[in-house]
Amino acid sequence: MAVLAEVMAANAKYVAGFGDKGQLAMPPARRFAILTCMDARLDPAKYAGLAEGDAHVVRNAGGRATDDAIRSLVISHKLLGTVEWFVVHHTDCGMELFSDDVMGSLLEGNRATASFDGKTWSNPQHGGGHAADHFIKWQTIRSQEESVIQDVRCIREHPLVPRGIPIHGYVYDVKTGRLDEVKQATEAGRAA
Ligand SMILES: [Zn+2]
Repeated sequence: MAVLAEVMAANAKYVAGFGDKGQLAMPPARRFAILTCMDARLDPAKYAGLAEGDAHVVRNAGGRATDDAIRSLVISHKLLGTVEWFVVHHTDCGMELFSDDVMGSLLEGNRATASFDGKTWSNPQHGGGHAADHFIKWQTIRSQEESVIQDVRCIREHPLVPRGIPIHGYVYDVKTGRLDEVKQATEAGRAA
């Protein structure tokens, strides 16, 4: 229960200093959105300078342009007025460390956390898995640049995404905190 107590203590402090943030409007004040990875080392509020109320941040494993990520971005623009989007993947992403086949086999064997020796994944226990996992597309990544280009293109070409929204493609460097532009992605995401 240590984590629960820590989170509640942190929240009490946050509430004490909440100030006038209760007055914030729902639409993002700075009118942009970021699609990025859930990796614990990335904090979009810090790497992109966001305060509460500033921007939308959509996160999933890899920062991939899945149907659900696109659903959020379309709502972000259509109902909440964002007019500029970023796709930010990052170096050393966990999504580069497995394939659909590997994940399917691991989950078919057992559902407990697997271990990784730097090359291969293995199950700590056996039994209790399910073959249903073979039917999920896990959106793994082979090269960060490639995946950013792919995802910017995928969003750009979606019929519900207006041509006028620029979509910028970046890779965040976990060693330095720097956002490096993927020029080919930004090119593909240019507003028409
Ligand atoms: Zn990642």
